[in-house]
Amino acid sequence: MRSLVLLLAVTLLPAGCLIPVSPGVSGTVERAAPGEDAVTLTYLGVGGWIIERGGDQILTGPLFSNPSIVATGLTPVRSDTVAVDRYMGRYEVSRALAILVGHAHYDHLMDVPRVARRHAPRAVILGSETVKNTLGTWSGVADRVLLVDDIAGTVEEEGEWIGLSPGVRVMPLYSHHAAHFEGYNLYQGALSRPLDGEPRWASEWLDGETYAFLIDFLAPDGGVDFRVYYQDAVCAAPRGLAPESVIRERPVDVAIIVPATFDQVEWHPEGLIQNLEPRSVILGHWENFFRSPDGDTRSVVLTDMRQFQARLDRVHRGESWMPDLWTVFRFPVS
Ligand SMILES: [Zn+2]
Repeated sequence: MRSLVLLLAVTLLPAGCLIPVSPGVSGTVERAAPGEDAVTLTYLGVGGWIIERGGDQILTGPLFSNPSIVATGLTPVRSDTVAVDRYMGRYEVSRALAILVGHAHYDHLMDVPRVARRHAPRAVILGSETVKNTLGTWSGVADRVLLVDDIAGTVEEEGEWIGLSPGVRVMPLYSHHAAHFEGYNLYQGALSRPLDGEPRWASEWLDGETYAFLIDFLAPDGGVDFRVYYQDAVCAAPRGLAPESVIRERPVDVAIIVPATFDQVEWHPEGLIQNLEPRSVILGHWENFFRSPDGDTRSVVLTDMRQFQARLDRVHRGESWMPDLWTVFRFPVS
């Protein structure tokens, strides 16, 4: 029913709200010299990224199935394993250490079982109790979920660092999922019991608690070489912010920030920029994800990206990018 509401809302939007997106960036954004020690970020669309340095590789929950908006509203949806294999198979992720899942909506979790089983068999899944219970007994990967609910940090209090290897650690941060439109939040709720079957409808993928993450790539002496912030949903500050004490020691090198639905909360992205002091900002989850990854994901974007960019530019002095799918960023480790 709630899907139907979304479908109707989107269908009934006046054409003037369907905002064409100005050119972003594609290919490779090279900020490191050839052969230089670098952190690489590859955009897979929606909340999906490959974030890596040397042998330390982290994935964030990708979506390759991309059911259409009509299908999402009116028909059952399920992971398209052929599409997952086609797109994830382009990348070598068999040694990925972790898959970070900020919340359990279908566009962040539905393809994770296939990715975890087939492509990243060693990866632990970092997520909420609702993530684990949604994966339930049917997916075969719920026992790989490391729950972050009790160890996440806030702006005032540091959370626990999860060491994934000697070279990388992750801290979950309490966040929140902004409304989708007009204060209306789709697919809201938590699961306290494991599902014994795959959810059939988009509306059965409940968000649960939402988290953002700090990812630190470490020097041999334990110092921080490079710091990434990742969110997969817009959130109203102070939720989603990193502990001030952690940022005081080292600001963020690259912040992955979500623009979609930014107008549903106050002070986004301003609060995040003030808190994280990022050197660079990359926008994720901005494109039209109701289309195939190979389709035209730039048109019919419902977020006013120009307005978002203008607000970002007022507070962020460094570089920022809005990448097309498959864009690769290489940043030198300093
Ligand atoms: Zn969501």
